[in-house]
Amino acid sequence: MKLFNTLTRKKEEFVPIEEGKVRMYVCGPTVYNLIHIGNARPMIIFDTVRRYMEYKGYEVNYVSNFTDVDDKIINKAIEEGVSSEEISKRYIEECKKDMEGMNVRPATTHPLATQEIDGMLEMIKTLIDKGHAYVSDDGTVYFRVSSFDEYGKLSHKNLDDLQSGFRSLQVSGEEQKEDPMDFVLWKPKKEGEPFWTSPWCDGRPGWHIECSVMSRKYLGDEIDIHAGGEDLIFPHHENEIAQSECANGKVFAHYWMHNAFLNIDNHKMSKSLGNFRTVREISAQYDLQVLRLFMLSAHYRSPLNFSADLMESSKSALERIVEAVRRLKDRESAAKGNELTEAESAFLKEAGKFTAAFEEAMDDDFNTADALAAVFDLVKFANTNVTEESSASFASEIRKQLTTLTDILGLKVEKEEEMLDEEIEKLIEERQAARKAKNFARADEIRNELLEKGIQLKDTREGVKWQRV
Ligand code: AMP
Ligand code: ZN
Repeated sequence: MKLFNTLTRKKEEFVPIEEGKVRMYVCGPTVYNLIHIGNARPMIIFDTVRRYMEYKGYEVNYVSNFTDVDDKIINKAIEEGVSSEEISKRYIEECKKDMEGMNVRPATTHPLATQEIDGMLEMIKTLIDKGHAYVSDDGTVYFRVSSFDEYGKLSHKNLDDLQSGFRSLQVSGEEQKEDPMDFVLWKPKKEGEPFWTSPWCDGRPGWHIECSVMSRKYLGDEIDIHAGGEDLIFPHHENEIAQSECANGKVFAHYWMHNAFLNIDNHKMSKSLGNFRTVREISAQYDLQVLRLFMLSAHYRSPLNFSADLMESSKSALERIVEAVRRLKDRESAAKGNELTEAESAFLKEAGKFTAAFEEAMDDDFNTADALAAVFDLVKFANTNVTEESSASFASEIRKQLTTLTDILGLKVEKEEEMLDEEIEKLIEERQAARKAKNFARADEIRNELLEKGIQLKDTREGVKWQRV
């Protein structure tokens, strides 16, 4: 398996630190609003990377944070007259709903910055002790960039160029820095902001230190893959490397993966430009699997332009797969025989070439566009070769082959079977009996089970009513 490493600017063979295991960290969103489909791009891409690695037999420890302390969150809280915590909690919940809709699996751990302050204080202290950081008069702690020779290695920037660039950009209020390139590790609180006590001042952490600390806590000093959108290469990831490598004395991440932007009218989609669409808006118009397929239809390192036309063609592409799977199921249940014929065995062998092509594409730096092409070749093959004459085994094997590939891409292509009315009634009866026996846990379980299948219960005076939602 090869992947493009931003650090070396080369496609490299993936060799994990520990055999059979992958330690992976993906920078997550700042939670002050509904996520937009630009934010969804890294979520979908790196979830697919994770799924493919698991398919290849790796055990993946996947960590992705929520940044829940930040100026933008604080401003939003002031605007609404509520606490920052209320804002971040609300948007973490909303983000999780969007992730579920896009079939992005929850991370192994989703740490929250506000829960990891102790680790940040400890790392900052280490950096000060080792001479990599200093405290200014007002208690702000800065990282001393000149103390790290390798600064700039990820973004391939030269220290001298950086220095002169920063000098011309110097902002007022930062005169207390030794060098304009230095960045904040800890800053004093302002009136009304959330804060924590520290040896330097009551305040809060800078953004970069969060990820260094959460990555170390959940994955260890040295990790395999660190990922995020390409806007994070500089300064965020460059600063994370400086902090982690200076504090831990080890290489931070072996491979750095960055997705290109999702654009709209060829401009980056972003909150600040106001040209964004939220995942929630898209979900009102499309099944979010369409959005997922749209994201996978381009290589992750190529810019992708959002357009109504591309969404429409992704919609029909998804329908083609869903229809093929449905047809294979029908053929399977209507088949007269079960045993594979000799001709079918030969066909199955031939169909193996589509999985091989899929793997070849994914092994080549996760080329999901080519992997999808292999899926459509298999769909075509299935539509032509699985007929009314086919055995149940043949239809079933081809369907399994197809859904194995779509599962790797995280595309849901099997329509969930609708529950029959009598099955629902039976469960309602069981729930009534459980309540009578004061087994409320079981009663709640049944209510939730039904809700998951889209059946909502209402307890009325005339008894329990239900409706599909
Ligand atoms: P943010 O909440 O802005 O820190 O972004 C969370 C993640 O979304 C980061 O990995 C960003 O790089 C990524 N991201 C934000 N906007 C876009 C975009 N238009 N296209 C692709 N990735 C993006
Ligand atoms: Zn980060």
